Amino acid sequence: MELKGFGAKTQEDLRKKLEFFQGTRNLFHYGAVEGEALALLERLRAQLPGQRIELTGAIRRKANIVSEIELLVEGTLPEPPFSPFPVKVHTAGAENFGTAWLQTTGGEAIWGEIATSNAPSPEEALLFAAAGLPFVEPELRDNPSAVNWAQNKQLPKLVAETDLKGLLHAHSTYSDGMHTLREMALHARSLGYQYLGITDHSQSAFYANGLKPDRVQAQWAEIDALNAELAPFRIFKGIESDILNDGRLDYEPDILAGFEFIIASVHSNLRMDEEKATRRLIAAIEHPRTTILGHPTGRLLLSREGYPIDHKKVIDVCAAHGVAIELNANPYRLDLDWTWIPYAREKGVFISINPDAHSKNGMLDMHFGVCSARKGGLSAEGCLNAMDLEAVGRIFKLTLR
Ligand SMILES: [Zn+2]
Ligand SMILES: [Zn+2]
Repeated sequence: MELKGFGAKTQEDLRKKLEFFQGTRNLFHYGAVEGEALALLERLRAQLPGQRIELTGAIRRKANIVSEIELLVEGTLPEPPFSPFPVKVHTAGAENFGTAWLQTTGGEAIWGEIATSNAPSPEEALLFAAAGLPFVEPELRDNPSAVNWAQNKQLPKLVAETDLKGLLHAHSTYSDGMHTLREMALHARSLGYQYLGITDHSQSAFYANGLKPDRVQAQWAEIDALNAELAPFRIFKGIESDILNDGRLDYEPDILAGFEFIIASVHSNLRMDEEKATRRLIAAIEHPRTTILGHPTGRLLLSREGYPIDHKKVIDVCAAHGVAIELNANPYRLDLDWTWIPYAREKGVFISINPDAHSKNGMLDMHFGVCSARKGGLSAEGCLNAMDLEAVGRIFKLTLR
């Protein structure tokens, strides 16, 4: 189809966007569905106390994107369940419930093969044992590396929300956040965290009220005062520095030197080919002041494809420069994609599970970041913000006391 008045490049762009949109219809973010799935499960269990009912399929694997809620029911349901999302009901008997659960949970083909090649079983765990394997958590079953890990009895102990000691990406009213620095700090502390890395937007991000140097200085003074008041809780002086078009960070060296840590992120000029995008990221990673690479591809799940990057190259350069990579916990981002966690950890790169909170409630997104990190096989040892205050301070090269 030719569209009059649009250049060929714009038409091609529109066509791609339309295709992307059509490919994402009837799909949902995990974060949008999880609450309803758990509520539905609870309702059905209350209605049918004698029957075993479990989540299964993609929602049980905590896939980033799901198309429906899948349930496995012992016996049958008296009527189809009501939910704002599509629901698929599988049924099984008590004696083969484990077999059906392993099969319908899905993921890599091997798990289905284990389900069908062993005698019917009431419990999944018995089927793993029969195959000579340790139990593989449902989140891990999409991960091809988990097959080897299980076969070599080297399954990682997956990171849990209770392992996390602090938050390293949050915005306040200094830039585009909803709550003040003080409110954000008090909220992080009330959630049990030891530290909050505040990372407002940098000066080039005018659309997000990015901080000019004088406002950076004002924020540092406020942080010093709050730290004196809230100790042992600690606010780290951070910034989410735009990665400029040529890969530079967004302040002069004297200001950059004053930050305790820096997240470097791309927010502008997102239309890049892989070579350009990779070069731009690498330049920022190589900057000696960069601590964490923020949302590496800029994707917004179900609405914007990220710019293409050479993940291996980017991870290798992070490893060489001791830069951690963010797993942005916002359910629309979940960027770094979990499929790259095994490679990053193989190279010794730390993953930082970051809320990118623009409000107090945004801190709750950490849950979705942990779900995705677990899919990638991340353990607490590989997670930057699972370190306590002292250990993170050492990574940031700070004297804390
Ligand atoms: Zn950002
Ligand atoms: Zn941010």
